[in-house]
Amino acid sequence: MASYRDQGIVLRTYKLAETDRIVHLLSPSRGKIRAVAKGVRRPGSRFGGRLEAYSHVDLQLYEGRNLDMITQVELVASHAAVREDYARSAAASVMVETVDAVAQEGERDNALFLLLRAGLQTLAAGPEEPAVFVDAFLLRLASIVGFHAFTDACAVCRRSGPHAFLSVKAGGTLCGDCAPPGTRAVDPRVIEVVATLAAGGEWAVLPSLARESPDAHRTAASYTRAFVEHHLDRRLRSYDAVPRP
Ligand SMILES: [Zn+2]
Repeated sequence: MASYRDQGIVLRTYKLAETDRIVHLLSPSRGKIRAVAKGVRRPGSRFGGRLEAYSHVDLQLYEGRNLDMITQVELVASHAAVREDYARSAAASVMVETVDAVAQEGERDNALFLLLRAGLQTLAAGPEEPAVFVDAFLLRLASIVGFHAFTDACAVCRRSGPHAFLSVKAGGTLCGDCAPPGTRAVDPRVIEVVATLAAGGEWAVLPSLARESPDAHRTAASYTRAFVEHHLDRRLRSYDAVPRP
């Protein structure tokens, strides 16, 4: 069987038999990898501790019919600080759960890998309020998989904005002609916050965004959750566990 080398970020692990684990990883070149790590739950296992959720690793694997087999693991970044803090770990679970749901096996998705790596690095740096990073992560992930939240044009007729109405189903801001009658206008700050969360790039500006406009951020966060659950067609089960101010 063919062996290969790749990088990956551990999304989740499951116990298998007495001493093994099944590991889901996201790789930049192969998308989601599902692999078996044999004997890693034995005391003194050489690489069991390197295969914890959120770790970025360099791997050697054998291709299998259903599951590949991990034969070597080196740590690139353990992101241990994420696992040691409740709020950061809760935030990281939302990230990996969502990636595990959208990543496809055998489909290269470097943008998704880079987003997850950036999200975990940001959490590992120890932010006091991780929730805003979850919101940014979710909108950026939605954008990568084809659902970018419109904030500078009408999501229906594409007329350029800013517009005062916001729709989950339509996919972003709506102009007065496209908004259904009776739709209530939102505070322009909310749309600015959604735009910054979805924009990609800078993570460093996000904590001050949340601090300076707490009400707008709260509304933008509810919108984000509804937007992502609707367009990815799944409940974000771990979202409620993330502490919010
Ligand atoms: Zn319109």
